Amino acid sequence: CAKENGKNDFQIFMPYMLMKNLKKIEIEKNLKKAIEEDQFQLYYQPVISLSDMEIHSVEALLRWVLPEKGIISPLEFIPVAEESGFIVKIGEMVIEKAFLDMKEWEKKGIDYLHLAINLSARQFKTKFFENMVQKLIERYSIDPTKISFEITETGAVENFDVSLRILSFLCQMGIKFLIDDFGTGYSSLIYLKRLPIGGVKIDRSFITELENSKENRAIVEGIILMAHKLDLKVVAEGVETKKELEILKEVGCDFAQGYLFSKPLPKTEIEKLLIARKIIV
Ligand code: C2E
Ligand code: MG
Ligand code: MG
Ligand code: MG
Repeated sequence: CAKENGKNDFQIFMPYMLMKNLKKIEIEKNLKKAIEEDQFQLYYQPVISLSDMEIHSVEALLRWVLPEKGIISPLEFIPVAEESGFIVKIGEMVIEKAFLDMKEWEKKGIDYLHLAINLSARQFKTKFFENMVQKLIERYSIDPTKISFEITETGAVENFDVSLRILSFLCQMGIKFLIDDFGTGYSSLIYLKRLPIGGVKIDRSFITELENSKENRAIVEGIILMAHKLDLKVVAEGVETKKELEILKEVGCDFAQGYLFSKPLPKTEIEKLLIARKIIV
């Protein structure tokens, strides 16, 4: 970093840090307003079951829609929301919006659909998180067995006892937990043994170039073998080509998600896909 490389780099380093900080402060300032004015919208991306090529579920992906400025990616504002604590309010709002959409789809006859929601570590370890979820499940009469929460390896392992308590509680209600971005976190595999996990989502970085990379192929095959022996389901993230899909079927992956099937879409646009259910690529 800057110190090791001598003082010349310092001049390059400083403005970057400053810019990053200014951006962070700017986002933080606007998040409060965004919550009050409900500038958030959920997009949905289908998850395809590889045994029959039908849609099994959708993953809710949050978008911050700024009037006249466009869409801000969750990669930019989720970390700031976590640091500032806004994630608690935003996270609750995501769950409520997703449940409402699910109910609406159910009324339109889409009754098979499972729903995956991303949780940040800071969010699911706050006090009363599990009570909040239970209340929303009851309020909207949601079938808990149709809900999955996605958490990262790091999020699962930090404050392990708290994780264990919250996951166990929600698991007993019928909710499933998936490990998101599997293979990219700094953690041991012990949590797979000790936490009630339902499946893993193989990170996109292992799916890309699956046909050309021996390493990726070995990692993906290995993960699937291990996961199945542990009775876990496997989702492949970021599937973009037919070749990748073919290999994933060959090695027995259960589900896949990615631009090959569909980008994340706003509620009204995903509906057409959900009604058709069968995905043809
Ligand atoms: P994630 O949960 O791993 O979601 C997958 C990301 O990969 C999404 O980015 C999705 O749009 C993108 N993606 C899907 N298929 C493809 C593909 O074929 N190619 C490529 N290049 N990308 C693909 P997105 O929507 O920008 O979300 C980024 C991250 O932000 C998510 O990663 C998740 O960690 C976080 N996030 C999104 N919504 C929420 C939320 O409601 N709460 C929390 N706590 N985090 C969220
Ligand atoms: Mg996810
Ligand atoms: Mg992921
Ligand atoms: Mg990811």
